[in-house]
Amino acid sequence: MNLILFGAPGAGKGTQAGNLWKKFGIPHIATGDILREAIRKGTELGKEVAPYLEVGKLAPDALVSGLVLERLSARDCEGGFVLDGYPRTLPQVEVLEEALKEKKKRIDRVISLDVPQEVLLQRIMERGRPDDNMEAMRRRLVDYRNLTEQAKKEYAARNLLAAIDGIGTTEEVFERILASLPQNS
Ligand code: AMP
Repeated sequence: MNLILFGAPGAGKGTQAGNLWKKFGIPHIATGDILREAIRKGTELGKEVAPYLEVGKLAPDALVSGLVLERLSARDCEGGFVLDGYPRTLPQVEVLEEALKEKKKRIDRVISLDVPQEVLLQRIMERGRPDDNMEAMRRRLVDYRNLTEQAKKEYAARNLLAAIDGIGTTEEVFERILASLPQNS
């Protein structure tokens, strides 16, 4: 099962991807985590993307897409995957779709975890990550609305999008996600 998780920062994507991993054994591929790890380790990639993450700007499409496509070629993605934080722009949607077509694969469901902005800001402040300062957070939410909403619309047009109410306990939200998955998965 090949899934994409959409949701603004603080919507609970990480938690629900963890639940999907436990239930289906499909790896959680979170571009934000991969990029932060690269920065922490001081790799070339890390050095290149650090200035973007610092100010809460999206990293260049080509760079992030290259990283994701390489990750999707790994063995543990053969039985499925959960993409979290990618694709975030229309060019990223196109690159992903092209690459999946080549592998004779497709996205089975795109899950949008919907949480109102007041709740998001509250959750993010409590989480307190280094890139969670007010200015970076504001920019990430703006980017999310402007660019990511376009990517989401693209999947809605393909009838793949499931809008999930992200308010409630993690168990309640996970039940809603399971109910939205294709029957035979
Ligand atoms: P996240 O943890 O998903 O909120 O990502 C943290 C930061 O990593 C973002 O604010 C961006 O700077 C960068 N990032 C993560 N995923 C992407 C992506 N698909 N395209 C561009 N930048 C990304």
